[in-house]
Amino acid sequence: MLMHSPALLENYVAGHWVAGSGAPTALTDPVTGETLAFVSSAGLDLDAAFAFARDVAGPALRALSYGERAQRLAQIVATLQASRDDYYAIATANSGTVATDSAVDIDGAIYTLSTYAKLGATLGDAHTLLDGAAVPLAKDASFAVRHVFRPTPGVALFINAFNFPAWGLWEKAAGALLAGVPVIVKPATSTAWLTQRMVADVVAAGLLPRGSLSVICGSAAGLLDRIGPFDVVSFTGSADTAATLRAHPAFTERSARINVEADSLNSAVLLPDAAPGTAAFDQFVREVAREMTVKAGQKCTAIRRAMVPVAHFDAVAAAIAERLAKTVVGNPRNEAVKMGSLVTLAQKRAVLEGIAHLQAEAETLYDGNRETAFVDAGADSACVAPVLLGLRDGARGQRVHDTEVFGPVATLVGYRDLDEALALTKRGQGSLVVSLFSNDAVAMRAPVLALADAHGRVHAVDPSVVKTQTGHGNVMPQSLHGGPGRAGGGEELGGLRALRFYHVRSAVQGPAALIEAITQDAVELPKA
Ligand code: NAP
Repeated sequence: MLMHSPALLENYVAGHWVAGSGAPTALTDPVTGETLAFVSSAGLDLDAAFAFARDVAGPALRALSYGERAQRLAQIVATLQASRDDYYAIATANSGTVATDSAVDIDGAIYTLSTYAKLGATLGDAHTLLDGAAVPLAKDASFAVRHVFRPTPGVALFINAFNFPAWGLWEKAAGALLAGVPVIVKPATSTAWLTQRMVADVVAAGLLPRGSLSVICGSAAGLLDRIGPFDVVSFTGSADTAATLRAHPAFTERSARINVEADSLNSAVLLPDAAPGTAAFDQFVREVAREMTVKAGQKCTAIRRAMVPVAHFDAVAAAIAERLAKTVVGNPRNEAVKMGSLVTLAQKRAVLEGIAHLQAEAETLYDGNRETAFVDAGADSACVAPVLLGLRDGARGQRVHDTEVFGPVATLVGYRDLDEALALTKRGQGSLVVSLFSNDAVAMRAPVLALADAHGRVHAVDPSVVKTQTGHGNVMPQSLHGGPGRAGGGEELGGLRALRFYHVRSAVQGPAALIEAITQDAVELPKA
């Protein structure tokens, strides 16, 4: 149920609900312009918030074993499932998403959590994770070393982006809470409602030690000032904000760890064998069109550059345009609508500016905004129809390789041969994901390995996986999420690899009997 009149959403810190003071910020419906709620983080006692999480909630969480914390994750799954309808209503109103796009966020969050509940259960009663076998340091083996992981005795602060208010919280919190590290989340202001509501539901269910999960809605002012040497920060958002954050004394002087997921110029590559009329060609066209329109292109993993052999440029352009033309854009409440709006009018302005910026060097192959009227939504809504741009000679482009337009926009980039395709892909300077499309699985071996050094994930597709492949842009909890270079250099998920960020690794050296005793109550961190 949505609220009847806009309420001030409270913050949950130090185990209490607290309203911010001062002038609040309004959250609006991006389609109707209606004010939905207000947020403010002004006047909070942040010292108490961090101290309570660090000193009270952390030890209580870590008194539980990994397996017990995994059980808590499973209980959180059940709690969230019970309120899915409310979450969908909030997403429709605050994010402007159609139900299938809300599912990517909400059900994606629940699936990710349940995956970690299952993975965490395999760690059983352990309180310590082992990293490899004992190694003798003396000829007679009396003295040895064994590496251990212990949960960091601090707080995990998440500063999140607007596009995944549900998944953005839980894909990170799953790893942190399983590790035994309390979480403070600051969602992006424009879509904070869903995050705040999910935290409220989990707090009300009383599943976690008090203060293990806090939420602060509104400005991030003062948060990093409280970050200490054992705290960790995960940031998702723009490269500009990331650069500001990295320069903070929390990291430069106190050496707290920061994980960054920033902008990314993800690519899909149609390999030379995948000519029109072949199955791989059709898969490529479907995937590019889908990636452009799912969540109106507001996915950090969305395909921004579609690389195609120049000989197939026109055929690909026509086939993608034909699909895009079927995309009904407008108010997500209308069942005919397939793609909702962007999250705010500010994002719409940024996307339209970004399109104009790219059009200085790229031709416009399809622009849904020229022909279509939005369904049940006016020109003053945050709706933008899909736009496909094109650059036949990809090597001549500059802007298409370094400008991420965070909306339903992609550029078709022509290449002459495979070497050029790989070089153009790497002009993204490090990306979250690249996908390859070929009719020959094994022929993708060389390009996959050539691109792996610049991408957090390489997604290869051939006709044998038409029904089973998980999608270019879908982030699976079993797979690593993040990317080198421009993508921020971060790593998240990847099964139990996610635990690494929330632990401190230490080499314990001592008498063989002690090194053996260390393994009580401990389990080797599985490689997968
Ligand atoms: P953003 O402006 O960088 O904001 C991200 C988060 O950082 C928000 O929670 C924001 O809070 C907070 N923030 C802003 N300035 C801050 C500061 N000086 N100190 C501490 N926190 C600060 O990014 P965005 O608005 O979410 O999206 C902008 C662009 O980021 C997009 O257009 C896209 O290019 C990129 N993006 C990338 C990803 C990805 O996963 N790679 C995801 C989403 C967006 P407020 O909301 O309160 O300002």
